[in-house]
Amino acid sequence: MNERILISGASIAGLTLAHWLARHGFRPTVVERAPAPRAGGNGVDVRGDAVEVVERMGLMPRVRELATDVQGMKFVDAADRAVARIDTRDPGSVEIMRGDLVALLREVADVETIFGDSVAGLEQDDDGVTVTFEHAPARRFDLVVGADGMHSNVRRLAFGPEDRFVEFKDHYFAFADTDASLGEDRWVTMFNTPGRMTGIYRSGNHAQAKAYFMFRSAPLDLDHRDVAGHKRLIGEVFGDDSSWRTRELLDAALADPDFYFDALGQVRMDSWSNGRVALVGDAAWCASPASGAGAELALVGAYRLAGELAAAGGDHRVAFARYDAAHRPLVHEKQRIGPNVRLMVPRTEGGRCVRDVLARLPLMKVVGAVERRVRAGNARPLPEYAPEGRAGDARQERSPASSTGGHRDGRSRRRCS
Ligand SMILES: Cc1cc2nc3c(=O)[nH]c(=O)nc-3n(C[C@H](O)[C@H](O)[C@H](O)COP(=O)(O)OP(=O)(O)OC[C@H]3O[C@@H](n4cnc5c(N)ncnc54)[C@H](O)[C@@H]3O)c2cc1C
Repeated sequence: MNERILISGASIAGLTLAHWLARHGFRPTVVERAPAPRAGGNGVDVRGDAVEVVERMGLMPRVRELATDVQGMKFVDAADRAVARIDTRDPGSVEIMRGDLVALLREVADVETIFGDSVAGLEQDDDGVTVTFEHAPARRFDLVVGADGMHSNVRRLAFGPEDRFVEFKDHYFAFADTDASLGEDRWVTMFNTPGRMTGIYRSGNHAQAKAYFMFRSAPLDLDHRDVAGHKRLIGEVFGDDSSWRTRELLDAALADPDFYFDALGQVRMDSWSNGRVALVGDAAWCASPASGAGAELALVGAYRLAGELAAAGGDHRVAFARYDAAHRPLVHEKQRIGPNVRLMVPRTEGGRCVRDVLARLPLMKVVGAVERRVRAGNARPLPEYAPEGRAGDARQERSPASSTGGHRDGRSRRRCS
């Protein structure tokens, strides 16, 4: 029952879900609009329960090998003098370039994948979902999962228009490749003018670096896929600024074909499923890059969704409800982004001065340590899910907990794989 599952989006959430569904004996198919996995973006954090998920996928040693080893954020003046530094290292977290993480996940998501296509229509009935594609012929699936990011196409088709769910957070941002010599090794260097930030993210393990732009704005009427329009906008907003290294970073960004731009937004939904269609990752709960938790939420959420489906023997009604209940507290916690944006983009010159003074104090380190202690105190073991009543699955492990309805908490038991 409910074996054939279509996943829209081959990024962190979609590939993790595909891996775990296949391991639990389902037959996932992934459809990705881009012609190949999208490699762009800065560093993302694998932390908290996401470390355990990646460990269980066998990837944690390689994630550690590729870690960016970034030490923290450095704020500079127009003469490139460091006015303050914040050490952001977290012993419970490993930062890796988003593109590297996607490449690793792709290696272990060995499932049918259709690139260069997108879902065009979804029609649900009692037995499944008829899916039409922009290019491929229509197909039947038992379930469909949207893992297609903040501007999710599946969410629009199954739940309604984007403006009902996406909350704009007053800023736009862009990332692009740039020359590493423009930034200090292993630091995220940021330069501010009121309401704007230009930065450079330089990882310890990569020849290249990422230019980073962020600016405060009222909502603009933009097409999220119009890259030429995004480049024009960034050119207009930062083009008059010749201070610090803004001109060089802007030139590099505008020449980069992998230029990535988006609104800073959060997705808020009362439910992540509608019948046979569910959402995972940014499509369901985007917390924004300001949360630093996009990858963590996607990895843990996808793991839980696949696990709950397995534990419920493929019964989507039971599984989707349990997935929602289990994952929502973490999403709520991570959507509280606090002063992160004001820290990176002070609105006024006075705000920047206050930020610089605060950044020189060991405040962030203390806050980080307290947060880690609270997190550790509240932590519950990530369940190891066992398939429940799935025909033909000779590998399933039987235990009292799995035979009475689902998943088992505790790491000491044997893995189901
Ligand atoms: C190119 C890129 C760069 C990013 N850079 C950063 C970064 O530097 N820092 C950060 O914090 N976050 C970044 N993000 C977002 C980050 O990946 C997510 O916040 C988080 O990891 C959750 O991932 P996700 O898989 O839910 O969504 P995403 O990573 O956004 O992936 C969504 C996937 O769905 C695909 N897709 C979109 N529409 C369709 C469609 N109609 N049909 C099929 N597939 C579709 C996209 O091409 C993409 O592969 C980036 C995302 C992308 C796509």
